[in-house]
Amino acid sequence: MDGDDWDREELIDGVGFADPGGGSALRAATRDNPRNLPCPNCGQENVLTPIDVQHGYQCDRCADLAESGFGY
Ligand SMILES: [Zn+2]
Repeated sequence: MDGDDWDREELIDGVGFADPGGGSALRAATRDNPRNLPCPNCGQENVLTPIDVQHGYQCDRCADLAESGFGY
């Protein structure tokens, strides 16, 4: 086996994660996927990309609150 396959791993949704290895599910911003959309939960602007919205994601802050049990 050669170990080079990792370099060619396909990026999720073609853009990859914004924070690879981190806790965020948000996708990376690219020229075709700009981070210019507001969070549907808190209304913070420019925190989500169009791909994030397609997946129904919210911003990292809201996701962290929901996952830590402080969501209402
Ligand atoms: Zn939010």
